[in-house]
Amino acid sequence: MCVDLIPVTVLTGFLGSGKTTILAQLVQNPAFVDTAIIINEFGEVGLDHALLEASDESIVDLSCGCICCTIRGDLVSTLTNLYERRTCGEIQEFKRVVIETTGLADPAPIIHTLMQEPKVFDNYRLARVVTTIDAVNGMRVLDHNPEAIKQVAMADTLLITKNDINDPLGIGPLTDRLDGLNPGAVRSICIHGETDPMYFFSGGIYDPSEKSRDVSNWLTKEAASSRHNHHSDINRHGSGIQTFALLRTKAISRGALAIFMQMLADQKGDDLLRLKGLVHLIENPEWPAVVHGVQHVIHPIKRLYAWPDNIVQTRLVFIVKGIEKEWVEDLLNKVTDSAYAGLSV
Ligand SMILES: [Zn+2]
Repeated sequence: MCVDLIPVTVLTGFLGSGKTTILAQLVQNPAFVDTAIIINEFGEVGLDHALLEASDESIVDLSCGCICCTIRGDLVSTLTNLYERRTCGEIQEFKRVVIETTGLADPAPIIHTLMQEPKVFDNYRLARVVTTIDAVNGMRVLDHNPEAIKQVAMADTLLITKNDINDPLGIGPLTDRLDGLNPGAVRSICIHGETDPMYFFSGGIYDPSEKSRDVSNWLTKEAASSRHNHHSDINRHGSGIQTFALLRTKAISRGALAIFMQMLADQKGDDLLRLKGLVHLIENPEWPAVVHGVQHVIHPIKRLYAWPDNIVQTRLVFIVKGIEKEWVEDLLNKVTDSAYAGLSV
């Protein structure tokens, strides 16, 4: 009775590889209406919902943990709850679901949960896994993060992002690497986050047997560990990775922001896994500036059209390895104070 089950697509990909940018484009696409979106973010301040610029009750934020580990149960209850609200007409009748994972997520427990949890598979079927891989940082990410290897190996579709800023170097070595990890995946280059919705929706049921033998082994391991371990809600990402947010109501000048971002990338880039945020600029107080950084790469500022919830406030979210929040806060204060005083830094 597969036709009655609601297809679920998992969108995964390492920190800063462009998942939200792709979703922000897709929600504007008429083919994407009737899609419920579940967004999972690390950190106490969720931003991705605001970055989508779509206010819809079928978009659910899960930003108090990671669905591959600490809040795996919340994924099940969110899906169950969405289905119940759909059945009683409380929300519009969505036809499909996209789950955006955190960048550090191990996809194996998520896929295991979607395929094996009765409360989920009674109403939903896992249709596809789509993974973003960044043309700039992709090789380094695969070298250092086992989760990224799994994200690539378990995918049906690999979307190569940021090729626009890496073009002169070519992406040959990266595509060779992807060939080795997952030769059967559909592959597409994604410029400025633009992609075809068909990569998200086509396909029947996710089939691990089409992937490498590692994929079946990872899923078998998940099945065994969930049978033997009732306390499965543990943090899989160790204590080495932290997340924190900086909030400020006082506006920042464009110049000070640029210096802050550059100093951060230059001095702490190796440990700066992800920086994203909305910034209250002195020059443009009426709209939030969107900032993104991944390790040593800082992206140009973009704009949102309005402040989410009408709250005019700078919100910067960091995912780091061992960078102290106080150090970042001090740097921001120093840079902004100098800019106010007209001094160069
Ligand atoms: Zn996790």
